[in-house]
Amino acid sequence: MVHRPSESVTHRQIHPRMVEAMLNHAAHDRPTEACGLLAVDSQGRVRFVYCLSNADASARAFTIAPDEYFGANRHAERHGWEIAGVFHSHPNGSPGPSSIDLNAAPAADWLYIVVARDQARLYALQDRTFRLVGRLATDVGKDVGPLPPTRAIGSLA
Ligand SMILES: [Zn+2]
Repeated sequence: MVHRPSESVTHRQIHPRMVEAMLNHAAHDRPTEACGLLAVDSQGRVRFVYCLSNADASARAFTIAPDEYFGANRHAERHGWEIAGVFHSHPNGSPGPSSIDLNAAPAADWLYIVVARDQARLYALQDRTFRLVGRLATDVGKDVGPLPPTRAIGSLA
């Protein structure tokens, strides 16, 4: 059965530490757009965040460096996961997807996260329109429970 992560993963299921990793990556790469991928397990749970390089080195667009894309894919496959989500940052912009994002939109069943300064939002793509699923919690100070049962944050850089 093909799992469709964006139908089952809510913004509450992405651990604040994963969100924190995306925000840190965005801050580190500013003023360039930061980007990365998310691995999802067979139950549709987000298990790993890959903080990767933007091959465009642009403040307005991103392309995940191809060798890092394949590296993340191999890593996910070794763990029985699937790459099923992408995130990127808007260094100077709004947390909403841009027209560039819409033209470059990934598969409709992928998780789609936009990071802008101190916030991150999860979107779902429907009929070539991004629908806001929710804001991702970033407060790691609260008791949010354990990370998923495997290491959940990583970088291939
Ligand atoms: Zn964008």
